[in-house]
Amino acid sequence: MTSVTENIVKVRDRIAAAATRFGRDPGHIHLIAVSKRQSVEKIRDAIHAGQNDFGENYLQEASEKQDALEAASGLVWHFIGRVQANKTRGIASRFQWVHTIERGRIAERLSRQRPYYAPPLQVCLQVEVTGDPSRPGACMDSLEALAEVVAGLPRIQFRGLMCLPPEETEFERQRAHFRRLRECQAALLGAGFELDVLSAGMSGDLEAAIAEGATHVRIGTAVFGERLLRSD
Ligand SMILES: *Cc1c(COP(=O)(O)O)cnc(C)c1O
Repeated sequence: MTSVTENIVKVRDRIAAAATRFGRDPGHIHLIAVSKRQSVEKIRDAIHAGQNDFGENYLQEASEKQDALEAASGLVWHFIGRVQANKTRGIASRFQWVHTIERGRIAERLSRQRPYYAPPLQVCLQVEVTGDPSRPGACMDSLEALAEVVAGLPRIQFRGLMCLPPEETEFERQRAHFRRLRECQAALLGAGFELDVLSAGMSGDLEAAIAEGATHVRIGTAVFGERLLRSD
């Protein structure tokens, strides 16, 4: 067994234990292996361990890996980095998901540039859950207006919300951030939007995210070990 295989077993055990503890169905919690700044060899190990969903933050780096892994079928690529306007065309054609929509204009570009032969791009809105406007993500007050724009785009399917809170070591503090994401989801559901995804939780806080309803956890170092390669 490779270390990546062992790590995936451990992470799946953590997800299952948290699901049991918080009364969740583990089948409703998807593991996205965040492979930014990890080697293609390690991604291959993860694929052999049955992992299909991968998260990447940089278009250039992701494209090289996707080309190297072209023979591996059935992979699902999630873009989880900041979306720059000049990268939307590549992102729209190379990824099935984008978790980090903060602005309507970016979503409009992605919808326009999504190739006609591909199914709609699955997207989440990134929410800034701490109230600090200098941090990435849409502020909670503007969420409904942003959801209105995104839900109306033809080549995009609005799926849910994502957050990337500051690192906390204490469980209740971690959980407070994710609770706000869940409250934002409840508000949008109340306003009539359909959304079934909460993309929340990383290596250090996945249990707290699952406690607050995460459906997609994005796990990097706990799956692959320390990040080594330089990013672009
Ligand atoms: C890097 C990254 C992760 C994974 O972080 P780990 O702490 O290594 O699990 C998850 N989400 C986003 C948005 C990231 O950039």
